[in-house]
Amino acid sequence: MQTLRTLKALHREGLLSADPPLGPRLAEAADAMAIAITPEMLGLIDRTDPADPIARQFVPSVAETEIAADELSDPIGDEARSPVKGIVHRYPDRVLLKPLHVCPVYCRFCFRREKVGPGGEALSAAELDAAIAYIEARPEIWEVILTGGDPLMLAPRRMAKLIAALDAIDHVGVIRIHSRVPIVDPSRVTDEFLAALKPQRAALWFAVHCNHARELSVAARAALARLADAGIPLMGQTVLLAGVNDAVETLEALMRALVRCRVKPYYLHHPDLVRGTGHFRVSIERGQALMKALRGRLSGLAQPTYVLDVPGGHGKVPIGPGYLGDDPDALLVEDAFGGRHRYPR
Ligand SMILES: *Cc1c(COP(=O)(O)O)cnc(C)c1O
Ligand code: SF4
Repeated sequence: MQTLRTLKALHREGLLSADPPLGPRLAEAADAMAIAITPEMLGLIDRTDPADPIARQFVPSVAETEIAADELSDPIGDEARSPVKGIVHRYPDRVLLKPLHVCPVYCRFCFRREKVGPGGEALSAAELDAAIAYIEARPEIWEVILTGGDPLMLAPRRMAKLIAALDAIDHVGVIRIHSRVPIVDPSRVTDEFLAALKPQRAALWFAVHCNHARELSVAARAALARLADAGIPLMGQTVLLAGVNDAVETLEALMRALVRCRVKPYYLHHPDLVRGTGHFRVSIERGQALMKALRGRLSGLAQPTYVLDVPGGHGKVPIGPGYLGDDPDALLVEDAFGGRHRYPR
């Protein structure tokens, strides 16, 4: 079984519900962003459920051709912050390093949907050297975040070389990897790959992108266990998505499932203003209400921080909910169950 990459293949698998299934608008959606659904993800899709949360993330929809006026082609302003190819430097102490643009799956809501894809070329050896030289020349860079595309699409030998090159830069204290591979293509997490993720000096952290408890298949859980057993600290990042996980029970189940896999929920991302993703967007008020509900239900260990990447390249900020009300003489603190309490200023 191979990764599905065409509308025809999706149609053959009975995954297209549009009528007609192969009409021009769906073709337009597929032209705007590559398709990829791995066997692992295909196996999780319930074809009898037209609202299946796994299918919704990966199967193109005609809704993607509806571009709203406030949607942006570079929703978080990466381009203005890219001093050399492959680097995004927005915060003084850390940079993104994007060695390649390919992913094992293509998520229809992706905030880099106009950058990722099989056509998007990887950095050449010379470009990667230039990106590493940029980091080397700036002692203020303490953390390097490997993202992409998905950095685990690199061959293990190339990953080992990249980690070694970053590890050789004394001021780099932390190498962080953001990946969806352990979930969507867990067979790539081999012993050879684990060996590549072993810097001698720097600390390596690993953030896994997971949006629904059902994504944590037996194989995905085993891949996460291999990473954790290799001594790699794991964090979770989730995108809040309408029709996928915008219900408190769904988020609760996901956060518990992540913690059971030794993954600490890190961020719940408010969906970015990506072109053609209005059907995935949830209001900030709704996101805050969901976070409030989670606070009352879940251990602190399982709480992510709800963040917005401020459009225009201004970075990420926590967006609540807040628990402090205003009063001239005292603070009003709301507890996790909705009760209000005065606290002296
Ligand atoms: C998200 C992001 C980071 C990492 O932010 P954290 O809050 O440290 O996780 C760093 N640089 C850029 C450009 C980013 O978009
Ligand atoms: S794996 Fe990440 S970078 Fe790739 S399409 Fe999905 S969200 Fe975008």
